[in-house]
Amino acid sequence: MRVVLVATSHPGNIGAAARAMKTMGFTELVLVSPLEFPHPDADARASAAVDLLKQARVVETLDEALAGCDVVAGTSARLRGLGPPELAPRDAAARLLATPGEGDVALVFGRERTGLSNEELDRCHYLIHIPANPDYASLNLAAAVQIVAYEMRLAQAQPVTAEAGEAESPAATVEEMERLYEHLEAAALASGFLDPANPKHLMRRLRRLFNRARLDQNELNIIRGLIAALQTPRHRKL
Ligand code: SAH
Repeated sequence: MRVVLVATSHPGNIGAAARAMKTMGFTELVLVSPLEFPHPDADARASAAVDLLKQARVVETLDEALAGCDVVAGTSARLRGLGPPELAPRDAAARLLATPGEGDVALVFGRERTGLSNEELDRCHYLIHIPANPDYASLNLAAAVQIVAYEMRLAQAQPVTAEAGEAESPAATVEEMERLYEHLEAAALASGFLDPANPKHLMRRLRRLFNRARLDQNELNIIRGLIAALQTPRHRKL
């Protein structure tokens, strides 16, 4: 399991998140464009989890942070409209662990002030919302990491059930799905189906559809092959 913190402004929160992870047995921390890191406040708040900070990977984009993952869960203090399916941490943990695939599971946490953008949420298969006080549901970033990591730990202790291991073909990775969306968008533009002046959330809706479907490699190859074939029709006698 990989914890991804996006554009964190307070280095102390990065340290506290590392501590939250280590107490739950997780070690892989990826930071996307943190405002200040490394920083003494991060080390101070990490306490005995400074080793996680030393090993943390710092990258510029969310796509880089998600490389090698095949399932991604974002987190949000607010419920959103046109986003991925929303789950409480307990249900999300069970679902994430039951997902067949060899890649990592990524848990993505947003900025202290503004959370994750819609574009970032579109990279996620699920959206985890901690059902807190509806009048004030915005937890401190590291507190949110603690709760989600705890539920992942509890779920790991459960015997694996459901879909795990039953897939015919490995799950499509996040990078492969990005290539599919690029291919779909190019084909939709070239065909005139997608009007760049009036895109009407088409790509967001397609992402949501495919993220729900959780394609495996065979299915991904079929769709890619089909789009390519539709782009170059054979001449046929009618
Ligand atoms: N105003 C922001 C709050 C961000 S809090 C927003 O509406 O999203 C910083 C981060 O902590 C969030 O991006 C999310 O990753 C996590 N977080 C805080 N409260 C949460 C909650 N109730 N459920 C899930 N994640 C939460």
